[in-house]
Amino acid sequence: MTLLRQNRELKRLGIWNWSLPAFAGKLPDGRNYNVCPSTGVCAKACYARNGTYLFPQVKARHQENLRWTMDDLPGWQQAILDELSHKRFVDAWVRIHDSGDFYSRAYLSAWLEIMRARQRTRFYAYTKEVAAFRELVEPDPPPNFWWVYSYGGTQDSTLDPAVDRVADVFPDEQSIAAAGWHSQEDSDLLAVLGPAPVGIPANNIAHFKARQAGRRWSRWRAGVDAARAARRTGARSTAAPGDDRSDTSGSPR
Ligand code: SF4
Repeated sequence: MTLLRQNRELKRLGIWNWSLPAFAGKLPDGRNYNVCPSTGVCAKACYARNGTYLFPQVKARHQENLRWTMDDLPGWQQAILDELSHKRFVDAWVRIHDSGDFYSRAYLSAWLEIMRARQRTRFYAYTKEVAAFRELVEPDPPPNFWWVYSYGGTQDSTLDPAVDRVADVFPDEQSIAAAGWHSQEDSDLLAVLGPAPVGIPANNIAHFKARQAGRRWSRWRAGVDAARAARRTGARSTAAPGDDRSDTSGSPR
């Protein structure tokens, strides 16, 4: 069984892909997981929580990928290294995650070791795990790794588009152009190789578009943060001295 796959879109571009399940769930053995610890509004409009990603065999494969990394990270790492030794990966691209994210520092570190050991292969990723990347990747990134920080998560406020390569999901192509951002619609590799900042047109999934309500994910997330802050301020102004209920009134993500 091959670990790296190509869906129709990535195959057209010659890109291989490694997938985990999106967001949170329960493994067949009953363990809970959250593969996207810094998810924010994105989980409400995540393309990987829709369509073919929900087919039982697809979901089972992604969950088995996750279980392997959780239970035997060194064994999984060796299996990926073995697969990447094949000549088809020389000068090839691997997208790390078309769903899921770098859910732990150990898992991210395992990928960094893989990249350093397979420098004839090029790797790229979108991620919302900004703090982990600041700590583990940015000081000394592998030369064959490209990444883009994507808005819509709980760490959005730590991003600086003047310094960081960032991507945002827009309602459509017109709104990307109007904002002066650069669409990656023609090739997913534009997200890491093309001009920045990067705009991604929302998938044409009606109930997700309704939730997005014409906003960019960064603005959607900022609105959620502002509303939460307003609730906290309101709670503080009505709380009696010594009453600390406002510290625990944040809504769950
Ligand atoms: S981080 Fe990515 S995969 Fe996870 S819920 Fe958000 S959009 Fe989906």
